[in-house]
Amino acid sequence: MKITPYGKEIDIASLMESLRISFDNYQIPIVTLIAVQEKDPFKVLISTMLSSRTKDQTTAAASKRLYERANTPQELAELPESEIEKLIYPVGFWRTKAPRIKAAAQKLIDSFNGQVPQSIEELMSFEGVGRKTANLVLGEAFRKEAICVDVHVHRISNRLGIIETKTPYETEQMLEEVLPKKHWIRYNTYIVAHGQQICKPISPICSQCPITAFCKRIGVEKSR
Ligand code: SF4
Repeated sequence: MKITPYGKEIDIASLMESLRISFDNYQIPIVTLIAVQEKDPFKVLISTMLSSRTKDQTTAAASKRLYERANTPQELAELPESEIEKLIYPVGFWRTKAPRIKAAAQKLIDSFNGQVPQSIEELMSFEGVGRKTANLVLGEAFRKEAICVDVHVHRISNRLGIIETKTPYETEQMLEEVLPKKHWIRYNTYIVAHGQQICKPISPICSQCPITAFCKRIGVEKSR
């Protein structure tokens, strides 16, 4: 049992078990799917970069088109930027992402012997890779204990009342205290799926929520 910022005990193991069971009914988040299907850290990195501000379906289709043409860092680095743009369109910010993923492939070759590095500092040295992306790559590609805090994890953790934070970085730090390490990777996977389908940003579907017993619904003014 952990004490939340609101002075209530929360059974993290039971919360995770409820999330795990409900996850079977959800679509698997795209980066998790790529990690499981491809088992290739290079593709996990590139698809994670493509996925920001983009619907999972769009990222999945763009990733498929891209990897059919470029299956390795070398092949991606050799593709003209204009062709990469066409392959990844219409992911969010495709014009910015095309040169970034090409540069990332080149950097993997030049600085890391074609391998994706396994430290947060090295990953964050790539243009377009922030803490969120780096932690997701560490967790999904290398099964390293890391908590990836995206908009869903930040929003829902605060709604649940297991933390009380203002920024994603604070959320990452507080979750590291609240969650046992063994849950760090899967917490993101489960919460992202839950956020995409039930605990939406505006008007969450609380009436169908499988973890309502654990939730303080902090800041929720409108729900279905
Ligand atoms: S009860 Fe509502 S606010 Fe709480 S996790 Fe479920 S959907 Fe989100």
